[in-house]
Amino acid sequence: NGAVRVNMSNVDSPLQIFVRAKKKINDIFVEIDDYVKDAVTFMHAVTGENGIATPQDLANVEAYVSKVQAIREVLKRDHMKVAFFGRTSNGKSTVINAMLHDKILPSGIGHTTNCFLQVEGSDTDDAFLRTDGSEEKLNVESVSQLGHALCATRLQERSLVHVYWPRELCALLRDDVVLVDSPGVDVTPNLDEWIDQYCLDADVFVLVANAESTLMVTEKNFFHKVSTKISQPNIFILNNRWDASASEPEYLDQVRTQHANRCVDFLSRELRVCSPKEAEERIFFISAKEALLTRMREREKPVSSPILAEGHQVRYFEFVDFERKFEECISKSAVRTKFAQHSRRGKNIANEVMQALEVIYTTATEQKAAKVEKQRILHEQLSAIEEQLTTITRQMKDKINRMVESVEHKVSLTLSQ
Ligand code: GDP
Repeated sequence: NGAVRVNMSNVDSPLQIFVRAKKKINDIFVEIDDYVKDAVTFMHAVTGENGIATPQDLANVEAYVSKVQAIREVLKRDHMKVAFFGRTSNGKSTVINAMLHDKILPSGIGHTTNCFLQVEGSDTDDAFLRTDGSEEKLNVESVSQLGHALCATRLQERSLVHVYWPRELCALLRDDVVLVDSPGVDVTPNLDEWIDQYCLDADVFVLVANAESTLMVTEKNFFHKVSTKISQPNIFILNNRWDASASEPEYLDQVRTQHANRCVDFLSRELRVCSPKEAEERIFFISAKEALLTRMREREKPVSSPILAEGHQVRYFEFVDFERKFEECISKSAVRTKFAQHSRRGKNIANEVMQALEVIYTTATEQKAAKVEKQRILHEQLSAIEEQLTTITRQMKDKINRMVESVEHKVSLTLSQ
C-alpha cells in the first residue's frame, strides 16, 4: 500500500528502557529454563530403585518446567499500553494517528469510533482486523476500508477490535506500544465496565480534551472512576485543537493559563494522582491535526496542503515534547508493573529448585557417611574376632604342649619302672 518504512533510529527513545528491560528479563528466563531442565535431567538420574530421590521429589522439580514456560509466554507478549479517552470528536483518533505518523484510524465526520480499537504491531507485512473472541482475520488495505469494515461489522460499544498494523511502519508499534482508542466518554453509561475490561492493565491514560472549551463533567467523572480502581494512574491531558487559538492571539496566554490551572487542579487536588508540580509536566497544548499533517508531509504522503495557522511550529514542538514525556512515563511504569513481579517469581523458582537439589545432595552425603560408618564397624568387629582367634589358638597350643609334656613324663616314668 505504498507505505514508507520507518528507518529512523530510535535508540535514544525512552521506550528503549522498556525494550531493553524486556529483552533482559526474557534472556534471564531462558537461563532459568535451562537451569530447571538440567535439574530435571539430574533428578531423573538419581530417582528409581536404589536412587536417592523419590518420584515425588522428581515430580516437584518437573512442575517448574511448565511454570517457567508459562511465564516466558507472558513475557514474550508483554507490552506497554496507553488508552485514550475524551468526548467524541475531541480528536482522539487524530492524536493516535499523529503518534503513529500515519492515517491508520479513520477520523472525522461519519467515523465516530463506536467501539474500542486497539492498535498493535503485526509481525507480518499485512494489516488486518480481528474482533475480540474471534480468530477471523479481516485484511485491511487502506484506512477507508478499515472505516467501512468497522461500520459493516456492527459492533457494540463495548466490543474490542484489534487493528494489527505492520511493526516496521511505526516506531511506537515496533517498540511494543499498544494504543487503545475509545468511544467518547459522553456516549456511554457503562464507564465502570469499560474500565474493568480495558483499562486495568493500561500503563498510561491520555485525556484528549478540547482546548476550545473547559473540561467537561463527563470527562472528569470518568477519571474519578479510574482513580478509584487503579492506584496512582498516570494521566496526561492534551488540550487539543490549540490551533484555534491562533485566530485570537490577544487572549492566547490568558486562555492557556486558565486551562492549565484547571487541569493542574483536577489532577493534583481533585484526583490526587500527582503533585501540582508533576501535574504541570502532564498538560500540553497541541494540535493533533497539524502534527499529523506535518508528519504525513515528512513521509511524503499525499495530503491536501492547507496553510497551517500561525504558531504551528511551537504547537508541533509541544506535541513532540508530550511524546517524549509520555514515552518516559509509559516505559518506566510498564517495567515496574509488568516485570517486577516476574523477576521476583524467577528468583523464587531458582531458589526453590536449588533447595530441592540441596536436599538430594544432603541425602546423598548422609548415605555415603552411613556406608563408611558401617564399614568401620565391620572392620572393628573383624579385628576383634581376629584377636580372639589368636588368643584361643595360643591357649590351645599351650594346652597341647602341656598335655604332650605330661604324657611324655608319664611314659618315661612307666619305662623307668
Ligand atoms: P475522535 O472522535 O475523538 O476520535 O475525534 P477525531 O480524531 O475523529 O477528530 C474529529 C474531527 O476533529 C476531525 O475532523 C479532525 O480532523 C478534527 N481535529 C482533530 N484534531 C484537531 C485539531 O487539533 N485541530 C483542528 N482544527 N481539528 C482537529
